[in-house]
Amino acid sequence: MSYLETLEPIARDVVAQHAPAVDGEGRFPRESVDALGAAGLLGLLSATDVGGLGLGPAAAVRVIERLAQECGSTAMVTTMHYAGTAVVEAFGPEDVRRGLATGERFTTLAFSEAGSRSHFWAPLSTARQENGHVVLDAKKSWITSARQATDYVWSSKPLAGEEASTIWLVPAKSEGLSVPRPFDGLGLRGNDSTPVTAEGVKVAPEARLGEDGGGFGVMMGTVLPRFNLMIAAGALGLASGALKRAIAHVSATRYAHLGSSLADLPTIRAYVARMQIKTDMTRTLLHDAAAAVEGGREDAMLRVLESKAAAGETALEVTDLAMRVCGGQAFRKDVGVERLFRDARAASVMAPTTDQLYDFIGKAVCGLDLF
Ligand SMILES: Cc1cc2nc3c(=O)[nH]c(=O)nc-3n(C[C@H](O)[C@H](O)[C@H](O)COP(=O)(O)OP(=O)(O)OC[C@H]3O[C@@H](n4cnc5c(N)ncnc54)[C@H](O)[C@@H]3O)c2cc1C
Repeated sequence: MSYLETLEPIARDVVAQHAPAVDGEGRFPRESVDALGAAGLLGLLSATDVGGLGLGPAAAVRVIERLAQECGSTAMVTTMHYAGTAVVEAFGPEDVRRGLATGERFTTLAFSEAGSRSHFWAPLSTARQENGHVVLDAKKSWITSARQATDYVWSSKPLAGEEASTIWLVPAKSEGLSVPRPFDGLGLRGNDSTPVTAEGVKVAPEARLGEDGGGFGVMMGTVLPRFNLMIAAGALGLASGALKRAIAHVSATRYAHLGSSLADLPTIRAYVARMQIKTDMTRTLLHDAAAAVEGGREDAMLRVLESKAAAGETALEVTDLAMRVCGGQAFRKDVGVERLFRDARAASVMAPTTDQLYDFIGKAVCGLDLF
């Protein structure tokens, strides 16, 4: 059975079923994550020699889009697990790689900080050597799955030298880590994306992922391509999910006194057409970006930057139009569009934000240095 055939009943019967409660109660999508783990799908990007499926970004894009059509929170926590897994696969120990592949462990990225905010490439948090340990101090501002993950892929300033950062694997149960407050946000309400404070957290020197001072290279080479593609896929899934629900609503909803449906109104059809075009354009660009990364194409980084900016904006526009064409009824939860509308606000402000991407893309095409 292909990974998409394995995914489909989980998306339809588990993820979709629990999504309203995950959103309404603001709780982690435990049932969905467990179902993905049991089916082997949390190991999508892990190598086969540690029990994974050994697939690449193009497969991840398809899985995340399908999940987001049903539940933005499930798509988000899975995205962060896959992004963290990519770093551990490249630099981490075999037992952790195996745990992440089989679903016994769950990971996420701990990059954003209270000081450097969306400029994740410039951590202010510190790492120092002390009595054979490495001691970490930090004010992380957002860690998705913060209270559910077993391992954080963590950035800090380097132990030595002038480079921007070093990456660590930090067990979530480490003494000295604390969550000041639970997540309570507009959308993605089950993603458990909380601040985390580290005060004197001790890790072994072997917990380092890559070279000391090599963090920027890990962020740009390993994380950014996969992260951007998957966040774009989540945004696309919210857009395509909203489009599907909007089409169902306008086709089925009738004006009894006129004997016609909402879809019989040319204005409504034109909005639906705009949503369809934007969604298809975004999917085409995203799949090309994933192919560019997998094929090592020269334009891969440009496509990676473009696809997140495009998908973030498409999600805003398409879910907004879905609210419009579904009318007052969409303002309630009945149509199922308002949850996707709220969830879709996140991608464009997640680093690299759309406005940062516009700047990076502009620099890239004008032949200027990005940093
Ligand atoms: C739901 C959710 C989950 C998240 N999960 C994680 C996670 O698991 N791990 C993690 O590390 N982070 C995570 N983040 C953090 C995210 O990646 C960003 O760091 C965060 O959203 C930035 O918010 P901020 O208020 O600090 O933005 P700010 O940096 O204060 O930005 C405010 C505004 O300024 C704009 N801006 C900033 N710099 C520039 C520039 N150079 N050019 C143009 N405009 C600019 C931004 O686009 C934005 O519109 C998450 C965020 C959200 C919303």
